Amino acid sequence: MSLEQAQADVFAFMLAVDQRGPGKPLPYPMQANELSFLYQHLVDEEHDEFQNAQTLADQVDGAIDLIWVTIGWLESVGVNASPIWEAVRLANMTKVSGPIDPVTGKRLKPPGFKHPDVAALIDQQRK
Ligand SMILES: [Mg+2]
Repeated sequence: MSLEQAQADVFAFMLAVDQRGPGKPLPYPMQANELSFLYQHLVDEEHDEFQNAQTLADQVDGAIDLIWVTIGWLESVGVNASPIWEAVRLANMTKVSGPIDPVTGKRLKPPGFKHPDVAALIDQQRK
């Protein structure tokens, strides 16, 4: 399943329950937006379920729910995640040549790492 399909699934659910996003990215700082606050809260709730799960099944359920509500939050602020995902993917792949943090095992950014220009990608979606 692609990210586009996941977005379409969440969007279909949101439409079915009368949760309509703005369609284009909201200006920032954002005006009060009940739908984005709702989804921000749902992300917190699912994150708690994920962190406090006692079984693999419960943790997997929390992880999938977290993906679902995170996509819902993106929809609630009018952002199409796919092009931003692609930019983040490309940036992450450059970390393959980066050093490894000896304490955490995390792959670190290599010298000259370029962060994806998320702001520019959001601006493009406003047009
Ligand atoms: Mg859940």
